[in-house]
Formats: sequence, structure tokens, C-alpha cells
Amino acid sequence: MGKVTGFMEFERLEEGYKPVPERLKHYKEFVVGLTADQAKVQAARCMDCGTPFCNNGCPVNNIIPDFNDLVFQGDWKNAITVLHSTNNFPEFTGRICPAPCEAACTLNVNDDAVGIKSIEHAIIDRAWAEGWVLPQPPKHKTGKKVAVVGSGPAGMAAAQQLARVGHDVTLFEKNDRVGGLLRYGIPDFKMEKSHIDRRVAQMQAEGVVFRTGVMVGELPKGSKVTNWAKETISPEQLQHDFDAVLLTGGSEQSRDLPVPGRDLDGIHFAMEFLPQQNKVNAGDKLKGQLRADGKHVIVIGGGDTGSDCVGTSNRHGAVSVTQFEVMPQPPEQENKPLVWPYWPLKLRTSSSHEEGCTREFAVSTKAFKGEKGKVTGLTTVHVEMKDGKLVEIAGTEKEYKADLVLLAMGFVNPVPTVLDAFGVDKDGRGNAKASTDFHGGYATNVPKVFAAGDMRRGQSLVVWAIREGRQAARSVDEFLMGYSDLPR
Ligand SMILES: Cc1cc2nc3c(=O)[nH]c(=O)nc-3n(C[C@H](O)[C@H](O)[C@H](O)COP(=O)(O)OP(=O)(O)OC[C@H]3O[C@@H](n4cnc5c(N)ncnc54)[C@H](O)[C@@H]3O)c2cc1C
Ligand code: SF4
Repeated sequence: MGKVTGFMEFERLEEGYKPVPERLKHYKEFVVGLTADQAKVQAARCMDCGTPFCNNGCPVNNIIPDFNDLVFQGDWKNAITVLHSTNNFPEFTGRICPAPCEAACTLNVNDDAVGIKSIEHAIIDRAWAEGWVLPQPPKHKTGKKVAVVGSGPAGMAAAQQLARVGHDVTLFEKNDRVGGLLRYGIPDFKMEKSHIDRRVAQMQAEGVVFRTGVMVGELPKGSKVTNWAKETISPEQLQHDFDAVLLTGGSEQSRDLPVPGRDLDGIHFAMEFLPQQNKVNAGDKLKGQLRADGKHVIVIGGGDTGSDCVGTSNRHGAVSVTQFEVMPQPPEQENKPLVWPYWPLKLRTSSSHEEGCTREFAVSTKAFKGEKGKVTGLTTVHVEMKDGKLVEIAGTEKEYKADLVLLAMGFVNPVPTVLDAFGVDKDGRGNAKASTDFHGGYATNVPKVFAAGDMRRGQSLVVWAIREGRQAARSVDEFLMGYSDLPR
């Protein structure tokens, strides 16, 4: 423990943001991280409380009190060693993790939690700047071949772990660049894509072969899922060519809103809108990019994806941006004794909301209306919870003007055709069915085929995807070698 009285002496210091008018002019990151001195003071707030709930609240079980202590001692090199021992990509989580660790921090019981995420961010950025993040190629090769399908955080973490223990890993990705939703979904202003490119270079040096633009199996006809594949490979071929196959294809099927008028022009899934801007930022030329300039934008869905649509629409120059959430507005402050150390339900205002957005809660969309085939507005009604069900409140109908409607209501499950083509059983929610048991976890019903990440657990978080990728890698390694030294 760095400083015994640190938690009583120092206040929590949040990372800063560049001013709104400045950051709205571009798509670059605008978070101002902690300086080394600030990180040291923040690390001094850790009480090393003996039972580190934070460590359990973190899905990859980051060893938080230890890296806090090392940062306080100024031993940044060992801090990154500790951080990397549980997390392959702390630069991703240090930027976009919602930090369930902080909800679980003991100091959060009656004070402000330790700023764990900002310390993690400071450690990994320093490590890259100092040149401490190096490839770790295996000492011996096993001669075993593994195919990983899907290059999101789950696939990347699994591929890195498997390559480091000597397997020949090929990562297949249908899109033209690696990264899954980190690349095509999450806006650049939340996480610039150079962070992924750096890891790809590291993984290539560790022996991972990346095959982008390759679709494994087929998408259903008319699917709106992102797909820039130029080549297709069949599941049978993959099973023939590789000793094990790990499916990490994410949960890509967006939830639709089948109300009257849904087929009008100008109503799109968030995942048609956001990836296009990622592509333009990467320097690609798109014909007819879906844009919000000069438009009244309605975002349906109050979560992260919706908030990313808000931030992107404001950068395009939308006239107005309104976001609907069907659930009632949660309280601004949680009842800590009731919910700690769990993730509390409370009102969360993102940096994108701060940039300009009207938020409506307990609102359901009844119908879209349009002229000449194009959306011009929609009708809503207020809803309330009765006997566990949302019911409409009579007489609360309201009309909104809309030139662009973005559907951001989450994802229902993975694309079923891909799982079906492999013959993988699905659970009740349509995800790949596989347990997380210590032995034999992540294995599907199909011999030598495994599944992890959003494809197995349903839509979730980057940090959970990294955890699943790491754990699945251990299972695959154990399957191939009869034992595994990889951590879980
Ligand atoms: C807009 C948006 C914002 C988000 N913001 C956050 C955030 O701020 N913080 C956070 O923690 N989480 C966030 N999430 C959730 C997070 O991105 C996901 O939980 C995470 O990326 C899941 O990782 P994954 O590796 O399981 O799958 P994905 O990231 O979905 O990657 C799956 C990859 O597999 C590829 N693929 C699928 N099928 C095939 C196939 N048959 N052949 C070849 N390739 C295939 C896909 O093209 C994709 O690249 C956000 C999600 C969205 C949509
Ligand atoms: S990965 Fe997320 S939950 Fe874990 S320590 Fe970092 S911010 Fe906290």
C-alpha cells in the first residue's frame, strides 16, 4: 500500500475533456489523461483494503491494488507487467471500459472510488511511449493450427494467447480491417484506431496471421451486418485445415423496430451509420455516406451505441439530436449501501450527451411517418412499468420531426447462419451454447469447435470479450496439448 492515509488526504481527480466546441470539429480522442504526478496521487488513494472487491468487479480480474502501489512507488515498468498479466489490451479498456471495478471499490462505499481506469490508462500509455510493449514470440512451436473467426477483442485476445504458447494461429475477419466493434462501431473519438494497428503489428511479430476480407460461412440474404468480405471460406474447409476453430464473431444481429413506416428511407440501424464514419476517418472514400448534416436526428435506444450515434451526429452538424430510452429515467445517485459492490443503475451522462442532446425517458415509438417514401417524423407515447410490463399511458402521444432515425436498441444474437453452418447448438437467446467451466469450457457441441465473446455470452463489453478470449485460449490449448499453462 503506497500511502496509508492517502484516501483521507486526496480527492478523486477525473480525467479531463477538451472543450466541446473544439472537440466537435474532429473525430480524434479528446480525453486528457492524468500526468505521472497526478496518477501517483490517485494511486495513493488506494487503501489496499485486504479484500479487493475491485479485483473481483473487474471482469479480467486486474490486480488493481498491486499496480496502484507500483505507480505510487514510481515503478511503472513493473506496473505494466502486473497489468499485462491479466489484460492483453489495457489501452482499449483504459479508454472505453465503463469500469465496474470502480463501482466495487471499497472506498466507493462512503466516498469517491479510486480512479482505477485512469491509472490503468496512464500505465499503458506510458508503457507504449517508453517502448516497453514488445512482441513475445513463443520459444517453441507446437505444430498445431488454430483458426480464430472474428477479430474483435475476444478473437484478438485469444489469438495472442494461443500464439504465445506456440500454436500457428490464423485470424479470419470478414471486414477489411481488424478489430471487430472496436474498429467498426466504437467511434474514433472514444478510441483511435492506431491502438488496434499497434497491437496487430505486435501480434504479427508473435506469429499471428491475419486474413481480412474473408467471410467464414454465409450471411443471410439482405443482411445489414457490416461485411466487406471479398472471399468466402466454408466451415468444413476450416475444420479440415485446422486442429481447432474458435468462433468469436460477436453478436451482430441488431434489434429492429417493426412499427408502421419502418420501411421509409432515412431509418437505419446504428451499425449502418457508425462504421461508415470509422471508414471515412480511416481515409476510405464512400459513395453516399449516411450523414446527419442539417438533419433532425432521432436516436432510438438509450445505451452506449445510442450515445455514440449522438456524438457522431453532432460532429456531422445535425440541427437537433434527440435520444429516446424506453425505460424510466434512473436516479442520479444510487443507494450505495443497497447496491455496492455491484454495478448500479443510475443516470449516466456521456461526453456525447454533454455535446448536445435532448434525452427523453419512458418513451416508446408507435409509428414512423413520411412523405414520398422518406421519413419526416414519428409518433411516440409515454410508457410506465405495471406488473413487470411496460404499458402505454393513454393521451401521452407526441409527434417529433425527424429526417434521420437511428435504431440503437441493442443486438439480439449472433448471425444464426454462421452458427448453423458449423452445426453449433444455440442457447435460449440464440447465442453459441458453451459453458465457461475450468476444464472443457468454451467448447461447443461440435468437436474441436469453441466459441467465446459476444457470440457466446450475448452483447456485452470489451473487457468481458477480452476475458472470454483469454479463457477460451486456455481451453483450446488444453484441448490441443492435454494441459495448459495459460492463465484464466
Ligand atoms: C457502437 C458500440 C459502442 C460500444 N461501446 C462500448 C464501450 O464504450 N465499452 C465497452 O466495453 N463496450 C462497448 N461496446 C460493446 C463491445 O464493443 C463488444 O461487447 C465487444 O466488441 C465484443 O467483442 P467480440 O470480440 O466478442 O465481438 P466483436 O467486437 O463484435 O467482433 C466480432 C468480429 O467478428 C467478425 N465476424 C463475425 N462473423 C464472421 C464470420 N462468419 N467470418 C469472419 N468474420 C466474422 C465481425 O466482422 C467482427 O469484426 C460497444 C458496442 C457498440 C456496437
Ligand atoms: S478493465 Fe475495466 S473493470 Fe478492469 S480495472 Fe480496467 S477499467 Fe476497471
